[in-house]
Amino acid sequence: MSDCVFCKIGSGQIPSKFVWQDEEAFAFEDLNPQAPVHILVIPKRHMTALNDTKPADRALLGHLLEATILIAQNKGIAESGYRVVANTGRDGGQTVFHLHFHLLGGRRMNWPPG
Ligand code: AMP
Ligand code: ZN
Repeated sequence: MSDCVFCKIGSGQIPSKFVWQDEEAFAFEDLNPQAPVHILVIPKRHMTALNDTKPADRALLGHLLEATILIAQNKGIAESGYRVVANTGRDGGQTVFHLHFHLLGGRRMNWPPG
């Protein structure tokens, strides 16, 4: 999508710190990190949110989570623990409407979230 910030990151129009990518997905550091490790894992194909996924996207969703787990291992936070978040829609606090999983770690997370 032409006016989507994450599509622009994917196409290189907006710079970012990539940490991983393959044919279907990529991951980059969040611009405004909320934890020592804060990475966004997203599909290359534009989809607005979890609500926008279909049964045909099952493999892609599994792939995104698998990538998230691998990145957590690479960042050294798999053992200490981490949080994976998909803010969805207005009440979920979503601000960028291209599906993404936040990977947060490197500090103790609070519960309940704000
Ligand atoms: P959400 O509020 O769940 O939609 O998350 C959007 C996230 O994207 C926020 O954590 C922002 O800090 C992050 N973000 C927005 N623009 C950029 C950018 N250009 N590069 C990296 N992260 C970004
Ligand atoms: Zn997009």
